[in-house]
Amino acid sequence: MTHPYPAFLRALAAFTATMALLASSQPDPQPVLSVVDKLAIPDLDARLEALVPDDPEPFFLLGEEVADEADSPDGLRLARHLYIVAYEIEREQHRGRPLAPSICLALRRIERVEDARAWLSAIAGALDPRYAARDWSIPADDQPDWRTALKAAEMLGLVRAGEGLRALPLRDDPQVVALLERYGSNLGPTGLTRIDTMIRRWPCPECHNERSVRRPTDRGNQTRLCNTCLGNPGPELSPAELRAHLLLESRLLKGARRSWSAQTALDDAAPLLDPDPDALAPQLAVRYDLDPSLRYWRGGRWVAAPDQPQSESHDSPPPVP
Ligand SMILES: [Zn+2]
Repeated sequence: MTHPYPAFLRALAAFTATMALLASSQPDPQPVLSVVDKLAIPDLDARLEALVPDDPEPFFLLGEEVADEADSPDGLRLARHLYIVAYEIEREQHRGRPLAPSICLALRRIERVEDARAWLSAIAGALDPRYAARDWSIPADDQPDWRTALKAAEMLGLVRAGEGLRALPLRDDPQVVALLERYGSNLGPTGLTRIDTMIRRWPCPECHNERSVRRPTDRGNQTRLCNTCLGNPGPELSPAELRAHLLLESRLLKGARRSWSAQTALDDAAPLLDPDPDALAPQLAVRYDLDPSLRYWRGGRWVAAPDQPQSESHDSPPPVP
């Protein structure tokens, strides 16, 4: 006996396939929706929609929850948006409240780029001096003795210059050793070992950092460029290594990048991030293509007004200030 509805089932299958094809060929109209579904936070969509931008705290706290759960770029993007909106509300309405530096540090926790992390810490420090030293990996109440810090910084400079013999006594100073063991992690995973290698290897074994070598010949003494260091003694540091050195030095000497040459070396002529609290939202908006003026969550995305039709909603970046 034949099935009574084979033609109907075939038509239904064709219809379903066509619809699936149509759906797959359409751009996802609300890509942000998926992040809410991906994050294991109960009622996240409803909680986002319930946020009213007259109190920064719920934005901040929900941002913390999202940041804890987020393991994808769009999750982090949602956390950042919540933080930045919280920051802006705080700045606009509650300038005396202490939430703003906490938001900076929260943003720092989900920031991967070291310079941006330092910048966020600098803003936190500008807002509240208690946070001023946090990013320098040296607690504010635990600054190293300045003489020891100076010695450590001098030692780093000598190491970079290939002056291993002069660097060695400083490296062996027990106080400097203690300081570097404590804060040398700023130099990266191979930091101290690498410094010791550089100290052992330099000065140049051939020219002793004279850059040239004199050799007696039949026609008298001749001077030639050193074959070992090619006239340029000292370890070859990668840009990342040099940055790490200068950052640690800067931190040891209490942070402010006062020398323009150190600044140039650190940033490699990149635009400076201004540690101005008022610049945080505009700079992060550009950096992450976020619009902090969109403060209502409607239909799976941020919009500017609570009753804004979803068709007019957008999440485009603001004009570059
Ligand atoms: Zn040499």
